[in-house]
Amino acid sequence: MKELVEFSRKYGSDPELVLAGGGNTSMKEKGVLYVKGSGCSLSTIREENFVAMDLAKLLEILDKEYPAEDREREAMFLADVSKAKLPGEENKRPSVEALLHALFPQRYVLHLHPALVNGLTCGLDGEKIAGELFPDAIWVEACRPGYTLAKLLSDKIGPETDTVLLQNHGVFFASETPEGLAKLLNDMMTALKARLPSELPEKLEDVDLSKPFTPDHIVYCGVGPALPDTENARLLYRDAQKINWYAGAFGGPKPLDEELVQFILNWEAESYRKKQS
Ligand SMILES: [Zn+2]
Repeated sequence: MKELVEFSRKYGSDPELVLAGGGNTSMKEKGVLYVKGSGCSLSTIREENFVAMDLAKLLEILDKEYPAEDREREAMFLADVSKAKLPGEENKRPSVEALLHALFPQRYVLHLHPALVNGLTCGLDGEKIAGELFPDAIWVEACRPGYTLAKLLSDKIGPETDTVLLQNHGVFFASETPEGLAKLLNDMMTALKARLPSELPEKLEDVDLSKPFTPDHIVYCGVGPALPDTENARLLYRDAQKINWYAGAFGGPKPLDEELVQFILNWEAESYRKKQS
């Protein structure tokens, strides 16, 4: 547990890797998943901010049938995720990505939203370039978060998968050791930096908030026209500007589809995350 808290804070404190309440980490031990609580910040996380969950119960969700209608399905899905909490954890709320963590067999999972990686995941040629640079990584196309994403990843993931790129979202790394996570992350950042035409310029182009790149931009910046007057909104606006620039090295920027933007705006799980900020 000490190691989990340690590497969570380390990566959580690096603004190049994750901002505000974004990103999450987990550890598995004896059938229990310890996953970050929704909306809390990785940089200051403590042991009690992790939620202990029954791994087998969480994975049972994948075999269940859920309604096709968004609101109904997500309400049932969230209720089932909540039921997988261990006794004594009732007052905590696990990350919306808890089931994704459960899908990896490895002991440790690290999920980040680095602007540089999202330059790739939000690039028009992102999937093609990811296939060249990281042939063993899995690419998951942009889709509804929550149940749909977990189901899609469960169809693609294998026992050896240690890297998953989520289009317009971020990256997952899985390893038996914290050192293994560090290596996966470092290798990816190095390979992506090598593709850039220059250092990130100080002055970056404005971006259109009505065309967000990732769920973080929707959660913290809204879909504007005006930027909310909060520190997190300013941080995530700058993040969108960086992604916009980085994506130039990966075929040019590709924002989220309008239909997904609408879904995320109305998704209860994300409004909960926003309230924690
Ligand atoms: Zn995420």
